[in-house]
Amino acid sequence: MAIRKIVTQGDDRLSKKCRTVTDFNQRLHDLLDDMKETLTEAQGVGLAAPQVGVLRRVVVIAGEDEDMLELVNPRILEQSGEQSGPEGCLSVPGKWGMVTRPNFVRIEAQDRYGDWFEVEGEELMARCFCHEIEHLDGHLYVEHIDHFLTEEELDAYYAEQEAQEEEK
Ligand code: ZN
Repeated sequence: MAIRKIVTQGDDRLSKKCRTVTDFNQRLHDLLDDMKETLTEAQGVGLAAPQVGVLRRVVVIAGEDEDMLELVNPRILEQSGEQSGPEGCLSVPGKWGMVTRPNFVRIEAQDRYGDWFEVEGEELMARCFCHEIEHLDGHLYVEHIDHFLTEEELDAYYAEQEAQEEEK
């Protein structure tokens, strides 16, 4: 396994449509393993293959437990509700923007052996599915925002979240 370099905004490969994976071979397994190691090292929530310069429809997501989710050729099947929150991206380091996403998303994807499965998520996971699948079509979350959040705006957002938590 190896840590791969994460490319950042401005790199051509982040604006390309990625190709469907058709060979579930060792090369794909190496890519998935490297992406998982790279995501862990970067302490991110999700990573799409174009972020390491590979134009294939492959995503890894850090789940709630130790196991990471591997998504090959993921597609959104269903989405509902709405949430707004600060979103960041390993390819746009140190910046955050307010993005509105569906609050619930159900997707289907193939595993590293080519078997299809379905998975659903709410809140952060739903946000993550949308964000990563957009990467595969050459889009970044920054296309949804009108400005990057300032420190003050971020602080105010988290203070408000905390206050809401205490009320519960
Ligand atoms: Zn991203």
